Amino acid sequence: SSPMAGTGSDVNAPKDLHKEINHLEELLTVDTAKLKEITSHFQNELEKGLSVEGGSIPMNPTWVMSYPTGHETGTYLALDMGGTNLRVCQVTLTEQKSEFDIIQSKYRMPEELKTGDADELWEYIADCLMQFIETHHGDPTKLEKIPLGFTFSYPATQNYVDEGILQRWTKGFDIPGVEGHNVVPMFQDALARRGVPIKLSALINDTTGTLVASAYTDPKMKIGCIFGTGCNAAYMEDCGSIPKLAHLNLPPDTPMAINCEWGAFDNEHKVLPRTAYDVVIDRDSPRPGQQSFEKMIAGLYLGEIFRLIMVDLHENSEARIFAGQDISKLRKPYTLDSSFLSAIEEDPLESLSETLALFQDKLNIGPNPAELKLIRRTCELIGTRAARLSACGVAAISRKKNYQSCHVGADGSVFNKYPHFKARGAVALREILDWPEKTDPKEEDPIEILAAEDGSGVGAALIAALTLRRVKDGNM
Ligand code: BGC
Ligand code: MG
Repeated sequence: SSPMAGTGSDVNAPKDLHKEINHLEELLTVDTAKLKEITSHFQNELEKGLSVEGGSIPMNPTWVMSYPTGHETGTYLALDMGGTNLRVCQVTLTEQKSEFDIIQSKYRMPEELKTGDADELWEYIADCLMQFIETHHGDPTKLEKIPLGFTFSYPATQNYVDEGILQRWTKGFDIPGVEGHNVVPMFQDALARRGVPIKLSALINDTTGTLVASAYTDPKMKIGCIFGTGCNAAYMEDCGSIPKLAHLNLPPDTPMAINCEWGAFDNEHKVLPRTAYDVVIDRDSPRPGQQSFEKMIAGLYLGEIFRLIMVDLHENSEARIFAGQDISKLRKPYTLDSSFLSAIEEDPLESLSETLALFQDKLNIGPNPAELKLIRRTCELIGTRAARLSACGVAAISRKKNYQSCHVGADGSVFNKYPHFKARGAVALREILDWPEKTDPKEEDPIEILAAEDGSGVGAALIAALTLRRVKDGNM
């Protein structure tokens, strides 16, 4: 029984919530053995995705068929349609090796557009591009000559580099009439309606952009990852290891960047330790049954996992946290984003005063000290689980490619802003790959996950440059 039970001295004394905390620890902790099991299943699924029959991970060929040399030059436009923002960039790859200049504007991606109709989406994107050009460009007649890379960060089938047949929306998008269609003409028609004479050179996934942009400045980079609103990775495969491209008779040693779309890992629920909360997230999402791995890791979902746990502990636990308080704000789905959890994890543990303030301001709830501790521990568990599961994907690609030592370029709000995400991922990678303890803490890990270069802007420009060079050289 709880140490406070039966004292009767103070009804308002914070209840000890260690039972609830222990339970959450059991639910959300992924031990080394489980990480290893997930990784080996992951490695099989990567192979399956490359096979003719296919698997649940799409493993999309991207037609990015070389790493940059660092000597690419020229001026390019990049349009980045992410999960949260729309960004337009003008990137100049300079004469100096591996250097670039960038001008960019960010536009908010209005929430209504994500579930609105397709025309409105393309019109909005074209308007932002127009606005950028009007602000930053003197002579619109020269525009035609500027190649554009479109970073469209959703799973897409590409038979060519300038094609992208949307397989399915992810990250909460749900716009009818786009899935199963090539998005490039939709985008180009919207530009044409505005009389913008721009031609798209390449359609790019953010992970492929990240891989290429990172390799531009660091040749040790072999994997590009996004841990942001969504979660995914890309790496360079040899065409000889891609059975589903065998019919094209490409030389077996030809490189081909693969956009894994690993968010779809374990959609068949064979190995991931899903909790009842993960099941609810999936059930109530616009695309149940899809992006199982992503729904446990990506920034879009971390706050929602936390919210569901809090509501459950209020309603169903013996402890009934926030008893007697009005939790109506907490009941609203997707009210908390991952920055809310980040702020809690950053709060000094001694007082948790920032956590208290956040709960008061944002949710109109005043947690007691024991509840504050539970809140903090819940965030740690959710963030740690996400980082540890992410490491399984990185380990699986590294194993598949037999990378003993390399750099992994990572981008996205979770990687860049979530406290300890990087360190927790590194610990998990060490457990999975059985690296011995470091003798010197400053020593590099054999495989290091590092902050990437801007894949969706600079990476898109580089891919446009690589594509134009390939076309000029007459290779496809
Ligand atoms: C998309 C990927 C993308 C990732 C990160 C996922 O939801 O399916 O294409 O790379 O999010 O943005
Ligand atoms: Mg992005």
